[in-house]
Amino acid sequence: MISVEHLTKAFPGPTGPLRALDDVSLEVPAGTVCGVVGPSGAGKSTLARCIPLLERPDSGAVRVDGTDLVALRGGALRDARRRIGVVPQGDSLLRQRSVAGNVALPLEAAGADRAERRVRVGELLELVGLADKAAAYPDQLSGGQRQRVAVARALAARPRVLLADEPTSALDPTTTASVLDVLERARVELGVTVLVVTHDMFVVRRICATIAVLDHGRVVEHGSVLDLVTRPGSRAATALLPPLD
Ligand code: ADP
Ligand code: MG
Repeated sequence: MISVEHLTKAFPGPTGPLRALDDVSLEVPAGTVCGVVGPSGAGKSTLARCIPLLERPDSGAVRVDGTDLVALRGGALRDARRRIGVVPQGDSLLRQRSVAGNVALPLEAAGADRAERRVRVGELLELVGLADKAAAYPDQLSGGQRQRVAVARALAARPRVLLADEPTSALDPTTTASVLDVLERARVELGVTVLVVTHDMFVVRRICATIAVLDHGRVVEHGSVLDLVTRPGSRAATALLPPLD
């Protein structure tokens, strides 16, 4: 469903171009969850932003459901992007909008009418367990509730693919579990294919079938979580695993 091929992205650095992504390739089969892990600065967020072309890669291909997004421009790119839900890193809700108003944003952008928006927002808030918070404002929610609203918003336009960048960072284990449950429901109930950036191996073990380990912009491991946990091949992967006791 998601296929990234030889993706490269450099930013200007103090001592010349900095390769945030260096020949990155990975595959996420339809209906599965793939974890992207790796140390800070490894290029995880850049990857999560390059897949929906929020950041344009220097070279390589990004195929989502068979379409190469890099080749698209203008309206065709906008339409393809709408098929990809994004939960950005950090607190991304609009504070001056209610929970329902935040979730409705992509529907407004897609031109849905008011009645359609109300029904869809209701379904989504039900899905993430926040039906009673529709009228609340982001400041009145806990961190975990805010992230669940961000997931609901990302799912509003019925995307085939969901990209979530550190959706559980700074959350305690119980709250983390509630956010992961929502991602799992998106996969099972909506058939969404999920890519989740995290530095938390608990997240990987709990919901990911496959994993890609990034280090210095390169994929140093990519495969099933079971394989990685039983025989990590790279130093970056070993560093992520808890010591044996
Ligand atoms: P991660 O999410 O794994 O922590 P990022 O993808 O945010 O890593 O960053 C990868 C590298 O690219 C870092 O060295 C970062 O400083 C650099 N970088 C990311 N975005 C930009 C940008 N917009 N301009 C310049 N450098 C950037
Ligand atoms: Mg990041």
